[in-house]
Amino acid sequence: MAIRQLRYEGDPILRKVSREVTEINDRIRTLLEDMVETMYEHEGVGLAAPQIGILRRVVVIDVGDGPIKLINPEIIEKDGENVDVEGCLSIPSRSGTVKRPERVKVKYLDENGEVKVIEGSGLLARALCHEIDHLNGILFIDKIIEEVEYELDEQ
Ligand code: ZN
Repeated sequence: MAIRQLRYEGDPILRKVSREVTEINDRIRTLLEDMVETMYEHEGVGLAAPQIGILRRVVVIDVGDGPIKLINPEIIEKDGENVDVEGCLSIPSRSGTVKRPERVKVKYLDENGEVKVIEGSGLLARALCHEIDHLNGILFIDKIIEEVEYELDEQ
């Protein structure tokens, strides 16, 4: 496994639409492992492949219940609304409130190519929507309702 270099806002790759994965092979599995490691290194709850410069529809998420690896994720159901503060590893200097569905159902392929469906609410729903947005070149700052300023602790 390896930690990959993060791409930051301003990098044009973050605005591109990622391609579907058509073959799940060791290369994709290594990518998923590296993405999990990179997410943990930066203490994120999610990471999408374009954030490490790879335009493939691959996402990893961990909201505290262990890593979830999603290939070609697609929202198939959503309902409710939830406004909460959001941030992004690619935009470390900003955070703000974003409206997301309260609950989503996402269809995806796992690392063995099996079709799975995951249902998430709250933070998991938020993370799923945020990461899938990345695959379409959309960043959370496009959707900010209100910026949140963090004060640095002075010690
Ligand atoms: Zn992000």
